[in-house]
Amino acid sequence: MYAVRLWSVRHARALELAYRGLERVLVAVHPWISRIGYARLERPVAAVEKSLKGLFFDCRMCGACALSSTGMSCSMNCPKSLRNGPCGGVRENGHCEVKPEMVCVWVEAWAGARRMEGGMKILAVQPPVDHRLKDSSSWLRVAREKSGEGAKP
Ligand code: SF4
Repeated sequence: MYAVRLWSVRHARALELAYRGLERVLVAVHPWISRIGYARLERPVAAVEKSLKGLFFDCRMCGACALSSTGMSCSMNCPKSLRNGPCGGVRENGHCEVKPEMVCVWVEAWAGARRMEGGMKILAVQPPVDHRLKDSSSWLRVAREKSGEGAKP
């Protein structure tokens, strides 16, 4: 929901802390996840992730979450699906040229990034979306990556 998306960007610092906490938990439970099986947990975890991130960020479950690098503003809400922005069409009031009723997703991203401790990650160029990851859990991917197991599509 648009209003909640704006709230999330205004509270980017608090969400950054929450994300870091989630990462620590995911790494801590990695041994159990491995025992149960990542594949077996994929569907239930993705379902929880989709509903929570859908509420706070209008998440599209791209499978390669970049929220912590885009000021808690999900770039998949950009009508041009830009993974690195903004485009040149941002209006003077900061709104989107394609959807003028909406603040540019990337204007929001930079505003959120300024509020975050690790906000300057926004300067890193994001790779294009890997559509094979669509609807898969980014949380489980983080758990694997941060536990040194490496991500698997
Ligand atoms: S103005 Fe912003 S949200 Fe709109 S298309 Fe350009 S980058 Fe995307």
